[in-house]
Amino acid sequence: MNKFYLEIITPEKKFYADEVEKLKLPTSAGECLILANHQPMVFALEPGTLVLTQSGEAKEAFTSEGFVEIRPDAVVVFSQAVEWPEDIDEHRAREAQERAQEQLRLLKSEAEFQLNKRAMQRAFARLKLKKGGHFFRQ
Ligand code: ATP
Repeated sequence: MNKFYLEIITPEKKFYADEVEKLKLPTSAGECLILANHQPMVFALEPGTLVLTQSGEAKEAFTSEGFVEIRPDAVVVFSQAVEWPEDIDEHRAREAQERAQEQLRLLKSEAEFQLNKRAMQRAFARLKLKKGGHFFRQ
């Protein structure tokens, strides 16, 4: 399978820089699969699970909001935060979820609603990945 160069960058670090065969990303329109020679484009990322495949091995990571730029020479993911499952702090995610839930219950303003909805999405996505996709089947 043809490969392409992938960079995943956060404000804190370069999370990944290597060749891959496939990249699956969560977007507002659903899951997006990128293969080599994809047409150049830019789109927005939603909080969720990204899956990259290198030498036939699929690896999952949490991604927060961000953007993806597909260039002829590379695919660059700019995300607010990216974590491997083992680096996700489940307790922190549960606390973030509870905080956001409480704030949503108080229903302050549209802006607060949107911020807390996003925080809930991030917490759900982290917990789902940490639990290997069994989060909703408990
Ligand atoms: P919190 O309210 O707990 O900070 P958040 O979703 O607002 O959650 P982010 O803005 O996505 O946090 O991330 C800020 C930094 O903290 C990033 O470096 C991110 O990797 C890290 N981080 C946030 N939550 C977790 C978590 N549950 N486990 C590991 N790292 C986390």
